[in-house]
Amino acid sequence: MNPTQDKASILLIYTGGTIGMKENAPGEPLRPFDFDHILSEVPELGKFALKIDSYTFDPLIDSSDVEPGLWTALARLIEQSRDKYDGFVVLHGTDTMAYSASALSFMLEGLDKPVIFTGSQLPISTLRTDGKENLVSAVEIASAKDALGRPRVPEVAVFFGSTLLRGNRCTKVDSESFTAFKSPNCPPLAEAGINIIYNDAIIRRPAPGQPFQIRTKLDTSVSVLKIHPGITADLARYFLCGSRTRASIIETYGSGNAISQPWFIDIIKEADSMGKVLLNVTQCLSGSVNMDLYATGKALKDAGVISGYDCTTESALTKLFVLLGQYQDNQQVKCALDENLRGEITK
Ligand code: ASP
Repeated sequence: MNPTQDKASILLIYTGGTIGMKENAPGEPLRPFDFDHILSEVPELGKFALKIDSYTFDPLIDSSDVEPGLWTALARLIEQSRDKYDGFVVLHGTDTMAYSASALSFMLEGLDKPVIFTGSQLPISTLRTDGKENLVSAVEIASAKDALGRPRVPEVAVFFGSTLLRGNRCTKVDSESFTAFKSPNCPPLAEAGINIIYNDAIIRRPAPGQPFQIRTKLDTSVSVLKIHPGITADLARYFLCGSRTRASIIETYGSGNAISQPWFIDIIKEADSMGKVLLNVTQCLSGSVNMDLYATGKALKDAGVISGYDCTTESALTKLFVLLGQYQDNQQVKCALDENLRGEITK
């Protein structure tokens, strides 16, 4: 808790998305409501013994319009207000929430306070909204302390549909259900039922003495190639060997397999000889890349592709943005990609 006040304090950051929309009159289009009046929209928040401030981005956006600039602004805002608040709740559209949560997890280094993303499938003002429960639980989690008085979840996480997921492990799996997010390769950090049960054993904490710092230099020169039957050499070369990319994510089949034909392997070798980072991520929702299992995977490995293990594409992309921004040398990027930086891979 901030020593200058007796109540724990939370900063509620509103970026846009369905959760904050309101129908001012029947039949009118949904518009964002004024978050300075959040307590009148969600009076339940007043029952917490918490000081809740809000910060509203301008303009508010549908999260399909999210650009890395929003992540930089979020990282700076959290850095600037870190001493003042015990935790942060970020209200965000669901469509790209997994990207934003992944990005922030890599941009906030040595994080010692909760940054909990949430949103909803139905606007908070509608009768059957999932937004109120998501928001109230996210606030409770962001302010929760352990027996030693430390923040219970000093991670970037996503709370949605009664489950708290590591931000860089989650993915949107359902466009309609209230349980829209899953993290198939990582157990939930907490589950909200009658009580909120925390999975303390897997919640990450910064190393003792590790300073907090933000990484806001992002290099977005990354392409994502999804392997599919019928893919052509022209298309593969365009994605993997283009002069404007430093790295490519190759979304492969199963345990990291792709076309084994010489034309494709030659393109991989060409990209590798150009010094590109080539990262193998599986198209499967769960499970890991293992390029030693099949000859097709082995051919990729031998041609210079490195393993993304069991990370999501959202996590791989944003990790690359941060590492490419951090290192000029792609060899250093490859070494850092192989490290489990924020719990994003299982090794
Ligand atoms: N398109 C909306 C957005 O991502 C959907 C939502 O908020 O859930 O901003």
